[in-house]
Amino acid sequence: MAIQTGNFKITQVEKSRIHQLDPNNIVFGSLFTDHMLVADYINGEWKTPEILPYGKMEFTPALASLHYGQAIFEGMKAFKSDSDEVFMFRPLENFKRFNISAERMSMPAVPEEIFIGGLEELLRLDAAWVPKGGDNSLYLRPFMFSTDEYLGVRTSLNYRFMIIMSPAGPYYSKPPKVKVETEYIRAAPGGVGYAKCAGNYAASLYPAKLAADQGYTQLLWTDAIEHKYFEESGTMNVMFVKDGKIITPAVSTTILKGTTRAALLQIAKDEGYTIEERKVSVEEIINGIKDGSVTEIFGVGTAVVVSPFSAVGYEGVDLELPEITEKSVSQILKTILNNIRTGKIADKYGWVWK
Ligand code: PMP
Repeated sequence: MAIQTGNFKITQVEKSRIHQLDPNNIVFGSLFTDHMLVADYINGEWKTPEILPYGKMEFTPALASLHYGQAIFEGMKAFKSDSDEVFMFRPLENFKRFNISAERMSMPAVPEEIFIGGLEELLRLDAAWVPKGGDNSLYLRPFMFSTDEYLGVRTSLNYRFMIIMSPAGPYYSKPPKVKVETEYIRAAPGGVGYAKCAGNYAASLYPAKLAADQGYTQLLWTDAIEHKYFEESGTMNVMFVKDGKIITPAVSTTILKGTTRAALLQIAKDEGYTIEERKVSVEEIINGIKDGSVTEIFGVGTAVVVSPFSAVGYEGVDLELPEITEKSVSQILKTILNNIRTGKIADKYGWVWK
């Protein structure tokens, strides 16, 4: 039976599928919670959002987003504290970035009541799905795509905004070997690098596959013009530790402005580290690894928080990085951020959203 609460029309599942969740054996992105949110934008306005049992949808083969790719998304996490409170981490940052992506892809802005209100309503209904403890979390995936049934290339008139949620476990992996990519690019000035649009991820798959064939798990993207400066790594922002300082590429139109990047830089600053946000050249880092001044390179993003790299491949040569220990900058920052995100230490920044 559907009920109307505030801004949402809610149809609850008759029987939860929560028994499918084994908190000790979570495969990322493969199991979805009982409910999902669907909000349609039709004739220039947002219709009443519906919360429905998670399930399949029907679509026309002429669905505009399948052909011309007006599709954007966000990735964020909710956590459960020891006392069973559910937190989101800085959801307004993802909300703002979502609408920046929407603008770049010529899509309508999603109102805060639908984006944030929808996340809150879904988390209330599916709170039991937020796995507790360790590095467990519930991954939240808001997304939007064009829904016109029309094959002309134009800005669509109709869209669907949705939220689905999927339990996520700890991310175990040995530090990856990364390849400096000097042929393919992720983003170019004037392009869509700062937007979280589906096509950016599609375009990264082939170069990533070529790198994987050569034994690399991840790419270090360089700039589109000269392949001289680092941009990002895979689907993460990237940080370098050189002479004890934290160096990271300044955000630009070719770099996605990561929420993890921003939080880690704030924490690092408050921990007394010197931070440089600027252009970081490949030459500087390669020389630094060789002379020992560059001691750490790590990717930062919602999924893993920090992912330290074991080696960097450049022009066919692999340069090893020192082993990561508990005293490594990446691990110190990761622990503080994780403890804030899960409510283990006081959140002096006001980042945690109950
Ligand atoms: N860059 C790219 C291209 C990404 O897809 C992501 C993941 N959203 C990031 C950086 C890191 O962003 P965040 O810290 O907000 O997850």
